Amino acid sequence: AVNYYIQQIATKKHLNAFINTYEAAALKQAAELDALPENQWKPLHGVVIAIKDVLNYKGFPVTAASRMLENYTSIYNATSVQRLLDNGAIIIGSCNCDEFAMGSSNENSAFGNVLNAADESRVPGGSSGGSAVAVQAGLCMASLGSDTGGSVRQPADFCGIVGYKPTYGRISRYGLIAYASSFDNVGIFANNVEDISVILNCIAGEDPHDGTSIRETYNGEITATDQKFRFAYLKPTIDLPGLNPEIKTALESYFKKLEDLGHSVTAIEFDLLDFIVPTYYVLTTAEASSNLSRYDGVRYGYNSGGSLALDDFYKQNRSNGFGKEVKRRIMLGSFVLSAGYYDAYFNKAQQIRRLIANKTKNIFDNYDALLMPVSPHTAFRFGEKSGDAVSMYLADIYTVYANLAGIPAISIPKFTHSNGMPFGFQVHTKSQADNQLLNIANYLT
Ligand code: GLN
Repeated sequence: AVNYYIQQIATKKHLNAFINTYEAAALKQAAELDALPENQWKPLHGVVIAIKDVLNYKGFPVTAASRMLENYTSIYNATSVQRLLDNGAIIIGSCNCDEFAMGSSNENSAFGNVLNAADESRVPGGSSGGSAVAVQAGLCMASLGSDTGGSVRQPADFCGIVGYKPTYGRISRYGLIAYASSFDNVGIFANNVEDISVILNCIAGEDPHDGTSIRETYNGEITATDQKFRFAYLKPTIDLPGLNPEIKTALESYFKKLEDLGHSVTAIEFDLLDFIVPTYYVLTTAEASSNLSRYDGVRYGYNSGGSLALDDFYKQNRSNGFGKEVKRRIMLGSFVLSAGYYDAYFNKAQQIRRLIANKTKNIFDNYDALLMPVSPHTAFRFGEKSGDAVSMYLADIYTVYANLAGIPAISIPKFTHSNGMPFGFQVHTKSQADNQLLNIANYLT
């Protein structure tokens, strides 16, 4: 299997899905696994997995797709990576992504664009674009990404595969390079929901290294169901003027079909939709500006050399090491945290986040699952949106919601647009109901 994927990766190198590949290490792992008697096989025995290049894998480079970490080598394993290895998985390489996981198109990588294998003139989505294409193009069996505001679910949608973001804290963040810590999740890409369930069982669960990890071991299972579900959708998400009409029509007729099958699908009011994107970008940039302050060229990161005064040395390293989008977010985050504006922006956004979470909790008192589009549009062409940061941010409206509320969400492919590109929809459940989420998603695929 490893040889097969090495060959596939070589054949499809132009997709640029990987920043680094680990052929020799993967073959060595495979040989060790081959020597094990069958009674010692673990659940992921020989499963070939790629990881987003924001996860630490000891002894291998981790760049966050940034010049800032270009020559940095991991000195420990992320918990999710350690648990993959402990369960017999083989790590084939590190995937390209937007720099420090900031972006929705993978156009912000210091290592170049990743091409969508369904149409190479189009973006794969972001920020985990490389991890999505690695699965889409058959370069591995499954992959890990990170999802702070949709970075697993949106590229999965653009590439026609399944992308899952767990309940916040379900998978340890230890060893995941931080973007916005109270939003960050390790997520999983696969060809189907069952694969995600198997991987989740291996990597989820309490971790003493992550104080926000959920204090329980996770044990989920996918079973066939004939249950009639109570589905809901937020009316304004479907009525949003920017939603592509074909996506709207497809979802509306799908909701009807679910009703014909005996489920209920209820449109519910939600008056906070306009606040979702601003709240997300105020809070995540604030957290990012703090998290990224460690990259000063002294303790970590790019060092441009020269003998400068300390302030100038930091300025030079950060100016040269960070890309444009990362700088934009550090400035925005520093602004909303600054003394004069803290109450008006950061505090206000924290309060709105609480309102969104409370409202969401109430929804699940009456419904099993919440259905939602993934993106207002399908994968767009390179350059089409990269000049307009605000319109790129606004398109995150459907995915940042789950991260604001901390609930689990999954995007599943279902339809093909007349432009030839895949799209699907998201399923959300209440916090910590990850197994229920995966079972409903499996039923709907
Ligand atoms: N597109 C969103 C952003 O740019 C989400 C990124 C993510 O989930 N890492 O912030």
